[in-house]
Amino acid sequence: MMYELTNDEILCNERAQEAIKNHELVVYYQPQYDAINSKLISAEALVRRVQPDGKVLPPASFVPVAEKTGLITEIDWYVLNEVCKFLRARLDSGEPVVRIAVNFSRKHLDDDKLVERLCETVDSYSIEHELIEIELTESAIMQDTHLITKVIDDIRSNGFNVAIDDFGSGLSSLSLVKDVSANVLKIDRSLLSGNCENEKERIVLESIFGFANRLKLTTIAEGVETEEQLGFLRTCDCRMIQGFLFAKPMPEEDFARICSMPQTDKSEDILFTQPQAGVTNLLIEAIFTKFPLVIVANLTRNSYYMMAYDSFTSKSCPSTGVFEELIAHGASTMYPDDQESFATTFSIESLTSAYERGEKSVTLVTRQIGDDGIYRRVETTDIFVKNPSADDLLVITLCQNLD
Ligand code: C2E
Ligand code: MG
Ligand code: MG
Repeated sequence: MMYELTNDEILCNERAQEAIKNHELVVYYQPQYDAINSKLISAEALVRRVQPDGKVLPPASFVPVAEKTGLITEIDWYVLNEVCKFLRARLDSGEPVVRIAVNFSRKHLDDDKLVERLCETVDSYSIEHELIEIELTESAIMQDTHLITKVIDDIRSNGFNVAIDDFGSGLSSLSLVKDVSANVLKIDRSLLSGNCENEKERIVLESIFGFANRLKLTTIAEGVETEEQLGFLRTCDCRMIQGFLFAKPMPEEDFARICSMPQTDKSEDILFTQPQAGVTNLLIEAIFTKFPLVIVANLTRNSYYMMAYDSFTSKSCPSTGVFEELIAHGASTMYPDDQESFATTFSIESLTSAYERGEKSVTLVTRQIGDDGIYRRVETTDIFVKNPSADDLLVITLCQNLD
């Protein structure tokens, strides 16, 4: 044992060991809902100890000691097995199921057979890996980022979801979200004090959801207790909600009932629930639907920034760089007869003189070669824009395929 334990802790650990043996540990489930339409999406498995007298003890009464002694790993495997049994039974009887998140202690990260054992366990119940999510706390991930990045990559590449739990509860590092391939970010409830009326708190939350959404992480707010918190989280474009406002952790039978209930769509008007984030996302979605490639260029500084979209893969062109090089590259991908007109129409000189003549935009149709070697007509439109804080001349380029 690595740590000195007090007598109380030794006793607590022995009781937890007995609890595993005597099947006194049970799994509670706390549902996780879509923040906008309140549909059940998934749930978190949370361990409880039920004493022989029926009293239910929370994890706080035995998990911290089990973390110290290492018994926690046994508890986690027990919980995972119970979750798999639950899912298997429902699948066997044709009942609907949702993804279940299981907490895994940092102690597992020392186990070089972790991913192998995880796959073996879940496979032994013939459960699809995508039905299981592994939650690792932020503090565990911060300990040895190099090792953990690899473990998380491994878990992800085997088809499981991985959530960073309690984000914002400790010394969160932004490199954590950047370098780690987890796909879910659980925002800790300590960031949600009161009703989110504090200006600084709102700014911090808005920023977290902003970068998490751009990194395509699924965001879950934990510990949501009030309508006011929910209202604010929706404006931040938080994707999922886990909290007492919707449901407390509950025994398996109660959760099974919720899973079987027909899903009622309690959605509200997105223009009211998400006036800013929602509408901005819709607008961007609409632009990208019509124009799979959007570039912003600064003609004065000869630079550009390309916005990549899922359906557009710019394999040969960097996302930022020198505008003239971008045009030269673009011209080289055009049909030989169109190369010159493309290069001259979109040169800095001709765009600047078009702007000075009072034109609002410049449009040209050319034939461009695709990745498949086929030429297709593309329409390129440059719209002139001014940024109020700089005198630079900027253009927004919208490209669409005509064929
Ligand atoms: P966690 O993983 O962050 O789980 C969320 C905790 O927040 C749960 O506490 C849940 O009951 C509580 N919670 C959810 N919504 C609200 C809310 O609206 N208000 C308030 N006040 N609390 C809310 P719980 O079940 O007591 O678990 C506490 C912690 O114990 C968990 O935090 C997790 O770190 C640990 N734990 C629980 N089960 C397991 C397990 O099977 N394995 C491991 N390693 N740790 C576990
Ligand atoms: Mg958790
Ligand atoms: Mg948490």
